[in-house]
Amino acid sequence: MKNIQGMKNDFPIFRHHPDLTYLDSAATALKPETVIDAVSGYYETLSTNVGRGLYPLAEETTARMEGTREKTARFIGADTEEVIFTHGTTESMNLLASVLADRVKRDDNIVVTAMEHHSNFLPWERLARERGAELRVIPLSADGSIDMEILRNHVGSETSIFAFPAVSNVLGTINPVAAFVREAKRLNPGILTIVDAAQAAGHVAIDVREWDCDFLAFSGHKMFGPTGVGILYGKRGILETLPPYQVGGGMVLDVYPNPPAAGRACASIYKDIPHRFEAGTPDIAAIIGFGAAIDFIGGIGGSAIREHEIGITRYALDRLRSSFGADITIYGPEKAEDRGGLVSFTLSGVHPHDLAQVLGEKNIAIRAGEHCAAPLHRALDIPATARVSFSVYTEEGDVDRLIDGMRDARKIFNI
Ligand code: PLP
Repeated sequence: MKNIQGMKNDFPIFRHHPDLTYLDSAATALKPETVIDAVSGYYETLSTNVGRGLYPLAEETTARMEGTREKTARFIGADTEEVIFTHGTTESMNLLASVLADRVKRDDNIVVTAMEHHSNFLPWERLARERGAELRVIPLSADGSIDMEILRNHVGSETSIFAFPAVSNVLGTINPVAAFVREAKRLNPGILTIVDAAQAAGHVAIDVREWDCDFLAFSGHKMFGPTGVGILYGKRGILETLPPYQVGGGMVLDVYPNPPAAGRACASIYKDIPHRFEAGTPDIAAIIGFGAAIDFIGGIGGSAIREHEIGITRYALDRLRSSFGADITIYGPEKAEDRGGLVSFTLSGVHPHDLAQVLGEKNIAIRAGEHCAAPLHRALDIPATARVSFSVYTEEGDVDRLIDGMRDARKIFNI
């Protein structure tokens, strides 16, 4: 296991910006040298397409991409064929909403939670509207969690889809995924369960067999990988019954002109899963870089990462509470152990946008706004929050600089 101290040395951005205090890892994680090297290495030494060429360079590129698929499958406890490459969580959810459309009947309902990122809200809101179904939103308890009793009041025999996040990108709440899936399937064995794992992957252990969810999506860039690659996991038995999302090159075995040849029911023969869902040239460099990101995480160890994130989150919670007392409102679970590595808050007298700007001038990067979670902010009845989020390279000194910067911001606004 790699020493988690001194981790900043693995991230070239800190050589270019030695004064950077990066507290926006929930938006995107910084990239370690090994990932950057894998991306540039692909362009320098391979630079060929996948799944088509019969010459060695193209075969090697295909092998690297498929190697990443195998690593990804091991990373989440899936079979290789159950891993589909997309461009991100957003595309994974839109893909699902498209191919699952026929499963949603008029007067069914689709259930989501009040803590959704828009990427796991809007595709279901639109699908429900288009199919004449009802969108049900599970409200949150005061501590930012989802009460099982309230879940039971929303999920029922007419629920075709239940989509929820493993970890909230605003509250940090870690949902009991396996328990939610179990309860939803008890209430309706035919339900499809969909997990948004964008804020979970690389932070908390994922095991799709243990969770028993039907689908799960996450983005490479939030777990040290390049932008442009996302993952969609689906249970083999379900994926095999679904139509393709997009059609075109790379996803088809044979194509016949219409009308089909005698004795044939359709004009084209699609590939098996997962390639049936991967039309066109993928972001090959990003996928290969994503493989290096999984190796990077493996080199540190998932539990060491989690331990570090709990430690730094606890430190941040303690310092924020002791420094600003009643002037700060912190959202989400009380204890660091019950959260992902992020803290959202409001500070009295300073709008989150002003705070982010003042801190930004000091090279302290935080996020301010709704964080693509307008329904949650509506439920909390606040226009915006400030969010700080952590990763393996976050040190206590970063949190100390944040606290000093927040004190300065209050002075600027005469508080
Ligand atoms: N879901 C959650 C919980 C997120 O935090 C994010 C990104 O912030 C997304 C989905 C969307 O991810 P992407 O923009 O990579 O598609």
